[in-house]
Amino acid sequence: MTTKLPIEVQRAETLKPRPSEENLGFGRYFSDHLFRMDYTAERGWHSPRIVPYGPLGVDPAAAVFHYAQAVFDGAKAFRGQDGQVRVFRLTDHCRRLNASAARLCMPTLQQEHLEQSLVELIRVEKSWVPSAPGTALYLRPTIVATEGFLGVRPAERYTYFCIVSPVGSYFAGGQQPVSIWVEEQYTRAAPGGLGAAKAGANYAASLTAAVEAKKRGFAQVLWLDALEHRYIEEVGTMNLFVRIGDEVITPPLDGSFLPGITRESALALLRHWGVRVSERKLSIDELREAHARGELKEVFGTGTAAVISPVGSMGFKDGTLTIGDGKVGEVSQRLYGAITGIQYGTAPDTFGWMTRVD
Ligand SMILES: *Cc1c(COP(=O)(O)O)cnc(C)c1O
Repeated sequence: MTTKLPIEVQRAETLKPRPSEENLGFGRYFSDHLFRMDYTAERGWHSPRIVPYGPLGVDPAAAVFHYAQAVFDGAKAFRGQDGQVRVFRLTDHCRRLNASAARLCMPTLQQEHLEQSLVELIRVEKSWVPSAPGTALYLRPTIVATEGFLGVRPAERYTYFCIVSPVGSYFAGGQQPVSIWVEEQYTRAAPGGLGAAKAGANYAASLTAAVEAKKRGFAQVLWLDALEHRYIEEVGTMNLFVRIGDEVITPPLDGSFLPGITRESALALLRHWGVRVSERKLSIDELREAHARGELKEVFGTGTAAVISPVGSMGFKDGTLTIGDGKVGEVSQRLYGAITGIQYGTAPDTFGWMTRVD
C-alpha cells in the first residue's frame, strides 16, 4: 500500500513579478516554489517539501557534475477555457521518469508519490498556470546524483526536484514549418546506449551537430541510426512521423531514441481515426524515392513543447528537399487540433489523458 507523502510547504516570503503572457517563450521564467525530496542509501527517499525557488546547494564533488547521473522529464499543465487546470498524461510522464532513472542506476520513486509531488506543486503554483491561448505551465521533474565522491559507481545520494515554468505558444501565429538537417556524421545514441532515457547526457551528445546545423540555416537535427546512418530515428527534441501516400510512418521503439508521449498520443489518434499507420523502419533512401515520385506528403515532429511541428524542408549534403508544398500538412494540422483540444478541455478527453488539479 502506498501512503501519501507528508509534504511540508514552506511559502516564499516575497513573490516574483509575473511575466507578461504575451511573450513567455520557453523555459525563461520560473515560479516561486519548487518541490524537493532527498535520497540516501540508509533512509531511502525522505523529506518531501515545497520550498521557495532557489539554489539546491550541491557538493562540487557530486556525481551529477562528473559522471552525468541525471534524468528529467517534461510535462505540461493547461488552463482550460473553463478555467480548470489539467495535466496531460501525468501518469505516463511519471512512469517514464522512473524508467529513465532505472536506466542510469538511480533509485526510482513510488509512482503515486511522483504524481502527488507534481499535483501538489501545481496546486501551490496554480496562479502561475497561464491562460492566454497556446500557453501552459511546463513541469520539469529532475533527479540528480548529489553524493560527493569521485569513484565511478552509482551514487548513494540523490535529489529529486521539480521546477515549473510558464511557457508560451510555440506557434503564436499558427503552426510554422521548420527546416531540419539530416545528420550523417554525428550520432546521438547507439543501440544499447542511453537513447531511450530522458537523460541530460543525450543532449550533451547532440549539441555540436545542432550548432553546425544552425550555421547551415537549419532549425533542428534529424538523427539517423548510429550503425548505418540510413534509418530515421528522431529530431532534436521530438519524435518523427512521415506520410508517404496514405501511409503514416514512424520508427518502431528500438531503445535508441525516446519513447515520446506525444508520439504515442498521435499514434492512438491516427489509429482511432482509421488512418493507415505503421511503426516501421524508414530509410532515407525510401524517403528520397518517395519524394522523387511525388508521394512524400508530410513530415512532422511530435513533442511536449510544440505538440506537432511540421517540417517544411530537409537538408542533405547534396541539397534540400521541400516537403509537400512546404506548408502545414493535413495530418499535422488535424493532430495538432485534436491534441490541443483535449489539452485545453475544448474536446472530450476520450482517452482519459487529463488529470484535473483542483
Ligand atoms: C522529450 C523528448 C521527446 C518527446 O517526448 P514527449 O514525451 O512527446 O515530449 C523526443 N525526443 C527526445 C530526445 C526527447 O528528449
